[in-house]
Amino acid sequence: MKKMLAAVLLDFNKVELQEVPVPQPGAGQALVRIKSCGICQTDYKAIKGIRRNVKFPIITGHEPAGVVAAVGPNVKHVKEGDEVIIGPSGFCGLCYYCRLGLAHYCENAYITGGDGPDDVRNGSFAEYTLCERNALFPKPANVSFDAACQTEPLGGAWKGVIHYSQMTIGDDVVVVGTGGIGMYCLMVAKAAGAGRLIAVDVSEHALEVAKTLGATHTVNPAKVDAKAAVYQIIPRGPDVIIEAAGPIDAVKLMVSLLRRGTRWNVFGITTHEKFEMDGGLTHFLEARMDASFGTTPLAIQKSIMLMERGLVNPERVISHRFPLTQFHQALEVMGSRDRNKVVIHP
Ligand SMILES: [Zn+2]
Ligand SMILES: [Zn+2]
Repeated sequence: MKKMLAAVLLDFNKVELQEVPVPQPGAGQALVRIKSCGICQTDYKAIKGIRRNVKFPIITGHEPAGVVAAVGPNVKHVKEGDEVIIGPSGFCGLCYYCRLGLAHYCENAYITGGDGPDDVRNGSFAEYTLCERNALFPKPANVSFDAACQTEPLGGAWKGVIHYSQMTIGDDVVVVGTGGIGMYCLMVAKAAGAGRLIAVDVSEHALEVAKTLGATHTVNPAKVDAKAAVYQIIPRGPDVIIEAAGPIDAVKLMVSLLRRGTRWNVFGITTHEKFEMDGGLTHFLEARMDASFGTTPLAIQKSIMLMERGLVNPERVISHRFPLTQFHQALEVMGSRDRNKVVIHP
């Protein structure tokens, strides 16, 4: 039996580089030789035990791009040798939600190495990975594997900023939290023609990176009154605010920044903490709340288009690249402050 190298998570804080059997594609499946796989915060949290809904052993990694190594029966849209992007989760295409175009609500979904549905399959911190055909998207030749492996976070940002919160050209946009997914939100907002684009983060490093991605202004709430600073830059207040941070304080800050008609998106927080809204004020503000999680096939396809057409280049957010043999060093970098996207080359 053919073997491959994989980073196997045996328990929290216990990743081992192991030789494991190369999986074989069944009907409707493809085997992909992984070229690049981004480390998502979700992976890091599972490995470190910050996220506890993990069954061992598991190979994490759900931001992959690679080359098709073999296809099973009934796979027609890609063939051996094709360069592909793998969506992080699979959907059935047949259930109520899939038929509404809401594949991220799929009742029969699986996820590779990540968080969400009960059906969790091995991910891509390995030389090869197996996936269902509907998770496979052809990779344009002019998009690098390192860029392509960020299709999922970029697609998530497109879905939140453009599809749900309907940002349009000229909008003044505030992105709260620009260290992780917020970087992709910034790039999408810039590409879509944001007017003033304000990055808000407590990390000076994150704010420096935000400037290189097109932020016109930066605000550090650890140093200044963030609301006053934002309203000094844009006295009429934001057209769109995206909370891409996570902590409840970021959501509260977003609420404090609302003016009449602001579209605001609860995008980064995933924990169950509370924030308050004034009923009458909410009524008269007509501020429109959205929330957004995950991606859809539409968002993934749009994200690929943005990269192919040169509007967004996610390579700009990569700070570190490691071969799979240095996976442990990559994890150390993930735990440090001065990093952006970390990519593994299996
Ligand atoms: Zn992810
Ligand atoms: Zn479904």
